[in-house]
Amino acid sequence: MFQNMSKAAEAHGFLGLIPVVPLARIPRLCHSRGLQTGKAALMEKIKKTDAEWREVLTPGQFEVCREKGTERPFSGEYDGCKETGVYVCVCCGQALFSSSHKFDSGTGWPSFWKPAADGAVDEKSDVSLFSARTEVLCSRCDSHLGHVFDDGPQPTGLRYCINSASLKLEPEKG
Ligand SMILES: [Zn+2]
Repeated sequence: MFQNMSKAAEAHGFLGLIPVVPLARIPRLCHSRGLQTGKAALMEKIKKTDAEWREVLTPGQFEVCREKGTERPFSGEYDGCKETGVYVCVCCGQALFSSSHKFDSGTGWPSFWKPAADGAVDEKSDVSLFSARTEVLCSRCDSHLGHVFDDGPQPTGLRYCINSASLKLEPEKG
């Protein structure tokens, strides 16, 4: 009997500790990549049919954003653009890139060394065209934006090579 009571007390003590352990771990989890993915999953995704997208996009925008097309180099509206502001998703309006992270890569496509915010874009392995590239998509509506390469400038060393057709510049308000 005594032995049973002792076990019960041990169990109680053990259970009493349980809430303390996960709480202590939460702040560290917040910095992990896993929780960022969780945050993106919690964000309300925008889903439309192709017919609905065609209603709000020009044929050129539709081809790039929804059919993963690539605009011709040096043809896009924002390649040489030096205006300050935020580049938002042409499909859903989410802020994707900032003019303060834009640089002239000489490739003919607007290039950025980082997204406007953590979680603004999703990156997906793309093995089409017989080469392994990393596709960049809007995390909110899965619009195809372009690709990211690791030959960009410091501090990230990344080059987000983005189609102008997938972006809309919202100029900085004076
Ligand atoms: Zn979007």
